[in-house]
Amino acid sequence: MKLTFLGATETVTGAKYLLEEGNTKILLDCGLFQGQKDLRLRNWQQLDVDPRNIGTLILSHAHIDHSGYIPLLVKRGFHGTIYATPATYDLCSILLPDTAYLQEEEAAYANKLRFSKHTPALPLYNVEDAKRSLQFFKTVPLKKSVRLDSKISFCFREAGHILGACMVEIKTPTMKFLYSGDLGRRKPLLHRAADRIKEADYLILESTYGDRIHETENPKDHLARVINTTYQQGGTLLIPSFAVGRSQIILYLLQQLKKERRIPHLPIYLNSPLAINATEIFLNHPKDHVLSAEESKGLTDGVRFIRTTDESKWLNSQEAPSIIISASGMAAGGRILHHLRSKLPDPRNTVLFVGYQPSGTRGDALLRGKEFIKIFGMEVAVRAKIERIDTLSAHADYTEILDWLKSFKRPPLTTFIVHGESGAAHTLAETITREMGWKCVVPKYEESFGL
Ligand SMILES: [Zn+2]
Repeated sequence: MKLTFLGATETVTGAKYLLEEGNTKILLDCGLFQGQKDLRLRNWQQLDVDPRNIGTLILSHAHIDHSGYIPLLVKRGFHGTIYATPATYDLCSILLPDTAYLQEEEAAYANKLRFSKHTPALPLYNVEDAKRSLQFFKTVPLKKSVRLDSKISFCFREAGHILGACMVEIKTPTMKFLYSGDLGRRKPLLHRAADRIKEADYLILESTYGDRIHETENPKDHLARVINTTYQQGGTLLIPSFAVGRSQIILYLLQQLKKERRIPHLPIYLNSPLAINATEIFLNHPKDHVLSAEESKGLTDGVRFIRTTDESKWLNSQEAPSIIISASGMAAGGRILHHLRSKLPDPRNTVLFVGYQPSGTRGDALLRGKEFIKIFGMEVAVRAKIERIDTLSAHADYTEILDWLKSFKRPPLTTFIVHGESGAAHTLAETITREMGWKCVVPKYEESFGL
């Protein structure tokens, strides 16, 4: 078998791993490159493999850095089967068209203001392409073995990362192969923990937090502190949040803080049609999360959903203290940009990041203390307080990864370290080799290995 790394090598986006055995070509994940420009440009290049020849795509979860290239793969000729869990399919059915829409919007806006160096600016794919790609999905529940041909079968295992997220276990008569997907925390807030795996001959392992340990402060305490400080200043708390996963965690923590009367009564807005839909999908899959029926029912109590653009504009004009949760989580696009443009120049406000910000994103620039950032081609002064809660991450830190690896009864022949910035990937590889004696490799972009 041959394994080629077509993304998420020494970076956290663009996850795509190609397995080839004779004429059988299986793609694991199909993510979009995001962040720095040189990475984003890779989305425009032709893949190293002709999409028409890929028969199977197995999707670990719905996050765009794992699924966002699917419409382009289909546009470029893929007509095989896309396997995903039912919750992942539901999430993709809102995330992929939304990603297309954002690209169309951004291209249209760039063309209108003529700030793009490309004339005209183009989206990678449009909403039609995204919707068309959904017809290739076939849903498979966790733990059900699926035969792909006479020799190869696969099975989804719990990953503990976000709704519907899984690891992918592939078996042939002579080999067992495991792809970790994105590996969740030891004790996820909303989901079951990742399945413990006993053996694999080859392992592809993520390393987002391969060189870091999550802070230990209780995220609820931290959130309460930020809310109360901002409220006392008469400011608005702006939470750029990923629509899927993080927004539901924030709603859950706010629900608990309100119940415990630890925060003042102030308006809470969920200003993202996508996050609203994702919350509904979350509630539609009660077996895929751990909230009780009562907790699920109360998740959106007292939260005002902002669906239309007019409502969003109205919200942006409000001065009274409030909490606004809006997407995208990296401030890469979406309604959050309008809120940032209006709220960043006022020192009473706080912007609270609740997720990982890869280098090159606006979120990263803000956390690094930049005094001005560019939004819609204009420089915006940053006077609001910039905060982050690191403990809500849906990714295991390196101590949790090592702990999870300890369930293996024997070392894999090779462990490939992916989905981490260069420093994180190499540090994790060295740590695993030092502490467990395993052979680890940090693959390069488009590098291939014989298994
Ligand atoms: Zn993910």
